[in-house]
Amino acid sequence: MTRADIAVVGSGPNGLAAAVTLARAGLTVHVHEQAGTIGGGLRGEALFDSGVRHDVCAAVHPMAAASAFFREFDLESRGVRMLQPQVPYAHPLDDGAALAHRDLEETCERLGPDGRRWRRLMAPLVRHSTGVTDFLLSGQRSLPRDPAVPLLLGPRVLGHLLRGDGLRTEAARALLTGVAAHAVGRLPSFPSGAIALLLGHLAHATGWPLPEGGSARIAQALADDLRVHGGVLHTGHRITDLAQLDARVVMLDTTPRGLLELAGDRLPSGYRRALERFGYGPGAAKADFLVSEPVPWADPEVGRAGTVHLGGTRAEMLAAERAAVRGEATEEPFVLLVDPAVTDPGRAVGGRRPVWAYAHVPNGDTRDPVPLITRRIERYAPGFSDTVVAARGISAADYETYNPNYPGGDIGAGAITLTQSVFRPVPAWNPYRTPLPGVYLCSASTPPGPSVHGMCGHHAARAVLRREFRINTAPPLGPGGGAIPTERTGRVS
Ligand SMILES: Cc1cc2nc3c(=O)[nH]c(=O)nc-3n(C[C@H](O)[C@H](O)[C@H](O)COP(=O)(O)OP(=O)(O)OC[C@H]3O[C@@H](n4cnc5c(N)ncnc54)[C@H](O)[C@@H]3O)c2cc1C
Repeated sequence: MTRADIAVVGSGPNGLAAAVTLARAGLTVHVHEQAGTIGGGLRGEALFDSGVRHDVCAAVHPMAAASAFFREFDLESRGVRMLQPQVPYAHPLDDGAALAHRDLEETCERLGPDGRRWRRLMAPLVRHSTGVTDFLLSGQRSLPRDPAVPLLLGPRVLGHLLRGDGLRTEAARALLTGVAAHAVGRLPSFPSGAIALLLGHLAHATGWPLPEGGSARIAQALADDLRVHGGVLHTGHRITDLAQLDARVVMLDTTPRGLLELAGDRLPSGYRRALERFGYGPGAAKADFLVSEPVPWADPEVGRAGTVHLGGTRAEMLAAERAAVRGEATEEPFVLLVDPAVTDPGRAVGGRRPVWAYAHVPNGDTRDPVPLITRRIERYAPGFSDTVVAARGISAADYETYNPNYPGGDIGAGAITLTQSVFRPVPAWNPYRTPLPGVYLCSASTPPGPSVHGMCGHHAARAVLRREFRINTAPPLGPGGGAIPTERTGRVS
């Protein structure tokens, strides 16, 4: 095999986004994936011999609909239909449910006395959605292009910390706190405020879509583009030492722990210690259900939602998330639930449908999540258990076995604290570069952090192009775009 320009270790959305960006700049790219199939957090599986496909990790894609990488890559024009639920997310409570509609005005009307406050919080963000999204998904080392963004975000994040987002009714407070809880950590906090505002306003802007047929379609579209541009994908072989790779530059879609495993003895001691200090957050524990009918919600309106947050009141969610951070195993954790066939009826096969649900639990928790999550669902959907045909649990500890990028089940590849949002994984101007020549990190352990947006991989690839190949022009990513001719960009190798 001739020496590649680039070896990428790991084929999650960030590894693939890096690979696509670099291949489109005219470089030869080889991707090495330990699992039998590509995709990392985008993989799906047909469980229980039913023909019904289940998303093993990510299911809903507000970030893939909004991020600069995917906006240009343009999933829809590559045949990946992004299906929009009428109600992006819902939050059932014991006395009814709060719903976030795609339409901001409809949401405000249904929130009664808090409608005006919800509009004041979200409407300016919706108007500046691209600027807000691009800033929060930037490498966090540059000023926002839209000067209104800091003025919009600053007071709102403070309001999240100090005044519960200025909302007064339990329904509205719970609705937004459920979104903030996507930060998987202590609530409220600076990062949970930023996440609540980002995901919260996207529900009323580019939406919280599900790819028709499941998340694996996104990975497939990335892999197809990579192959068209000469990239090669190797699966089923774990890289255990950087010496196994013959390439000028290595991109690691791994956590700092992964980098320590691959090259710990070669790293300068200061950097190694900084990687060892990088902290991991609470775990996720998931239940995949095969059910015979839609979830029987006590409030049928919840059945229109793409995503459902099961966390009870704001106070209950604050307590549950605090317990998960402290390592205390609560019986009432925060649970996210998706019944994909609500948005994508094709996901139901032969009268059976998948239900995807995961709980926030202590890091490394070994409990079987199926009974825990079933009880949580039953509180808001009595009779759910009677619809369950089969179930499989993945504990937080199991998630690490499935994917080393989830240490102890931390699906964020590193805790989302204020410090670790900016200094991810270490305090450095270029967080992607490591002290080893030609070795870069590109996973969710780098800015801007977890979710399927491809931006960690894309930012890391842009850093490699500039520094290692002197290519300053961003390669086109759209369906028609080809590689930048190397003569024009002055590649130096
Ligand atoms: C239960 C769950 C639900 C989620 N829900 C959502 C959601 O709905 N929406 C959303 O946007 N995000 C969601 N996420 C988060 C999202 O999946 C991740 O943030 C995202 O996949 C991170 O991408 P990545 O490329 O950094 O890493 P990953 O997707 O984790 O990919 C890393 C890849 O590298 C491989 N690898 C690691 N080490 C090696 C090695 N040494 N050799 C070879 N291969 C290696 C792994 O096998 C893996 O395939 C969820 C995650 C989980 C687990």
